[in-house]
Amino acid sequence: MEPVAADAKICGSCRGAYYDWKKRNPDFDGILSRIDGEMSYDDGDNCDMDTSANDSSSALYGEDSGNDTNVDDSLNEPNEPYCDSVTHGENGFITLSMNCTISSHRKCCVCQQYIVRNSLTVPSNDRSLIWLMKNVFIPERARYCTEHILNGQLNVDAINQIKPSIVQVMKFSASDVQLLIDQWQIHFQQQKRFNFDDTRSVSGDECKVLTSLTKVQFEDLVWQISKSGIRNSSNRSIRTAVAVLLCKLRFAMSNTPLTVLFQLPDKRTVSRCIESARTALINEFVPKNLGFAHIGRNDIIHQHTSTLAQYLLCENEPNTAIVVIDSTYIYIQKSRNNEFQRESFNLYKKRSLLKPMLIVSTTGYIIACIGPFLSNYSNNDASIMQNILHRNTD
Ligand SMILES: [Zn+2]
Ligand SMILES: [Zn+2]
Repeated sequence: MEPVAADAKICGSCRGAYYDWKKRNPDFDGILSRIDGEMSYDDGDNCDMDTSANDSSSALYGEDSGNDTNVDDSLNEPNEPYCDSVTHGENGFITLSMNCTISSHRKCCVCQQYIVRNSLTVPSNDRSLIWLMKNVFIPERARYCTEHILNGQLNVDAINQIKPSIVQVMKFSASDVQLLIDQWQIHFQQQKRFNFDDTRSVSGDECKVLTSLTKVQFEDLVWQISKSGIRNSSNRSIRTAVAVLLCKLRFAMSNTPLTVLFQLPDKRTVSRCIESARTALINEFVPKNLGFAHIGRNDIIHQHTSTLAQYLLCENEPNTAIVVIDSTYIYIQKSRNNEFQRESFNLYKKRSLLKPMLIVSTTGYIIACIGPFLSNYSNNDASIMQNILHRNTD
């Protein structure tokens, strides 16, 4: 990177593009104008800010002196005298006054309480994230309580809770600035449309719409199936796999739109993703929540029977389980296999469909789901029921 000489001429369109970019990237703008100031020593227009701390302080944060005017000034009046209170390079360092949290071994920098139980040193990616998001600098050896962490990341409540307690003058070397820019670049690149790995990046509403589960339910599901031996891979995590599967079930999307939505490399990755999540669900989650084995007869009678059904159907025999059995439809596309197409075509609905048989209690609790069955004339509910009873399916 080579600095442009202070007296170099710039054409109008480049200048316009630069201002446009500056407007859209205020954070980098702050840094750049600082580096500008450091290199050219001629922007003497930041003197109006409150020099609260030492001789040198910066306009990088918490100031509203327009930066566009700064540049205009420096372009138009390059000979303005150099002002001493402006941050400038001294032996390759720049000093900035920063909003800092407390940095203590005994106090948590998030809740500002004395640490009672376990605590951790704030990792550098959390520090740069907070700086990026909230303009608050967490000093290097600050600690926080482990309560503020969810899945190894600072949770949303904690981020909202963080506030600066002092303004401190910090010294940054050129390599610090470089590191900072690198970290911001990483944060920028990690921005996915729907990143289920980062619990903070998906809002409750988005989670509900995409997966039909609330965030808490989603966490619970992931926690349950993480015991099944499904592994995180380089392309997708368990969480993404589950989210992709649920999203597919909910919207019946083909795999290509899912690659776009979850920013996965290709549709083959999506299908592997769905397969591993499906296997994990079948192994770990489904047996505990569906089928005759997952709930006892007494539970159905005492917890999942409505009073009305009880009253109407078996008033004098309280120890009778009442279930409702009916088939439902899953519409499918017309098959190219002629035989299957004929067997799956339902004359009543005039469409291709499959029929799962649902066994539910009178409160709507799904006890079991058997099937799916084909849907031609020989697969009516009665014959399906007969088949289930004969085979004693569970
Ligand atoms: Zn140009
Ligand atoms: Zn705390």
